[in-house]
Amino acid sequence: SYDRPLTIVRGAMQYLYDNKGRVYLDAVNNVPHVGHSHPRVVRAAQQQMDILNTNTRYLHKNLIEYAERLCDTLPDPLSVCYFVCSGSEANELAIRLARTHTGRNDLVVLDAAYHGNSTTLIDISPYKYEGVGGFAQKDYVRKVSLPDTYRGEFRSDDHSAGEKYAREVKVAFDSSERSVPAAFMCESLPGCGGQIIFPECFLEFAYQHARAAGAVCIADEVQVGFGRVGTHFWAFETQNVVPDIVTHGKPIGNGHPLGAVITTEEIARSFNNGMEYFNTFGGNPVSCATGLAVLDVIEDENLQERAKVVGMHLITRLNGLKEKHSLIGDVRGLGLFIGIELVRDRETLEPADMEADWIINQMRNEQILISTDGPYHNVLKIKPPLQFSKDNADRLADTLDSILSSI
Ligand code: PMP
Repeated sequence: SYDRPLTIVRGAMQYLYDNKGRVYLDAVNNVPHVGHSHPRVVRAAQQQMDILNTNTRYLHKNLIEYAERLCDTLPDPLSVCYFVCSGSEANELAIRLARTHTGRNDLVVLDAAYHGNSTTLIDISPYKYEGVGGFAQKDYVRKVSLPDTYRGEFRSDDHSAGEKYAREVKVAFDSSERSVPAAFMCESLPGCGGQIIFPECFLEFAYQHARAAGAVCIADEVQVGFGRVGTHFWAFETQNVVPDIVTHGKPIGNGHPLGAVITTEEIARSFNNGMEYFNTFGGNPVSCATGLAVLDVIEDENLQERAKVVGMHLITRLNGLKEKHSLIGDVRGLGLFIGIELVRDRETLEPADMEADWIINQMRNEQILISTDGPYHNVLKIKPPLQFSKDNADRLADTLDSILSSI
């Protein structure tokens, strides 16, 4: 992650401690969603581990209670829940559901997308197969442009940019070279793509086109779910859509290996074809106790609202820095999902990748952890645990300001 690697030995809320006792402000880890080693989550897991942990061969109240609680956070008709152990497993299962339901094979994905580490998911993740060590796009994959209103074909001054980007989704489904795809799969806000905020109505139109072709819509909420975007619990809600399948990972277990897939009864019925789905660790009593505690903490500590307020404050501060430092080309974000795109020239948008790398290393030396991402590795990525405070945001902005001033 950094030129001088860190040995982290302890975590508490939005802070990490290294083996020399130094404390770091964590502005990058979205897995410890409610805070590193949050005591309520730790206790819940410890207590259940003390009593029982089995696979799902038996009835258990934690499983039912957690499935119901999770489904309650989602709009109708999303009501059937499968538990898995990672974001990759969730996306793999989502693809199986979509293929079984539609009887089709092909998939439509966004450019620069990342959906996980399995063979199929690497096949459908341009972030990987187009990168170092990559390979040619597989026959069953159709890729459409990333709706990036800063760098893409249709920019933020175009009020119908969302509709225009979605037209490519229509073309991907209509093209007659191969059979019609099974699904349109995308993150509700692309993270690895460079913290992209979709233009208004993009998903609305994209979903319409996919459904008109008889396909299903899969929302990957692995990075952006559980209140991170502030205004809503799920990022797809910011685009006024209801997916057919939603996948969860990372923040769902606050670091415990947990994932979930939630779909409609209709799709679940198609999948219930006799083959059976079995997952040894998915949905075990300890995982469910952990997941339930995460939901409790988000609610009881008002973390979604906190993400909204602190995120807005940080974005305002960062926009202030953009006025002062020409290296900052764009500041974008929703809640505590924030990207700062660095460019050498605001006209040509030449990516400032080396500068971005240098900055995150300087930030690390100042004991603040952020990372870079995006197709050009020039986007500073901010996605802290939701315990992040206004004071933390000010410290991050002040430090970034002085580092930018020193270039
Ligand atoms: N989807 C998205 C959007 C992700 O960011 C990731 C992980 N970076 C995954 C899926 C895969 O999750 P996991 O690493 O838990 O398998």
